[in-house]
Amino acid sequence: MALPAEAGGFVGVADVSPKRPLCFLLLGPPGAGKGTQSAIIARKTGVARISTGEMLRDAIARKTPLGEQAAPLMDHGNLVPDSLLVALIDERVTHPDCTNGLLLDGFPRTVRQAEALDQLVRDRGMELVVMNFDVPREVLLRRLSGRRWCPSCQATYHLESSPSKKEGVCDTCGSALIQRADDRENVVAKRLEAYEAQTIPVIEHYVKRVAVHRVDGYRDVSDVFAEILPFLQGEKAS
Ligand SMILES: [Zn+2]
Repeated sequence: MALPAEAGGFVGVADVSPKRPLCFLLLGPPGAGKGTQSAIIARKTGVARISTGEMLRDAIARKTPLGEQAAPLMDHGNLVPDSLLVALIDERVTHPDCTNGLLLDGFPRTVRQAEALDQLVRDRGMELVVMNFDVPREVLLRRLSGRRWCPSCQATYHLESSPSKKEGVCDTCGSALIQRADDRENVVAKRLEAYEAQTIPVIEHYVKRVAVHRVDGYRDVSDVFAEILPFLQGEKAS
């Protein structure tokens, strides 16, 4: 999927420096634009963008104590316990790039993870900012099922937002484009249902505790960011 605004948008938007380290949570279904916004937010606020998957792989590769605990679980296809994931985040927060805080995209996935993360946020004196990206289901279906992919050079396209010059053919290498199994409409619909079933309790968990900012993700990247900006500056802090 193309990230047009990543290239050079938002010239003139002042950089933001948070008063307390932020713990930024972006919740929302796949295809809601969280990845694009999280890259912009990280750049504007200087918070570190953290993926729990990358963090796990990194801890295992570096053979840290937590990595050593996680490796056998991953090898056997077992889920890594919530306490271990949060311990990894707790360790990661001490790295110098987290001085302004961190941004988690797609975490927490369960209420237990959310509770463990709440404790970390309190212990570290961070400010929790929760955004819930909302996009109509039919738009998500179109965004996700319109993806096309080049199996030779891994270039990605989208039938509507970034089509190849010649339909079904990779601009870069001329190979035939495919739709990945994950992106087929019925599979996408199932993923969205699973997402909702799993995440609605997490959103309810936060609604009881902090202001959850609803972000309408069904707009241009720059419009979505303009809506988020005041939350970063603390003007609309909960
Ligand atoms: Zn290609």
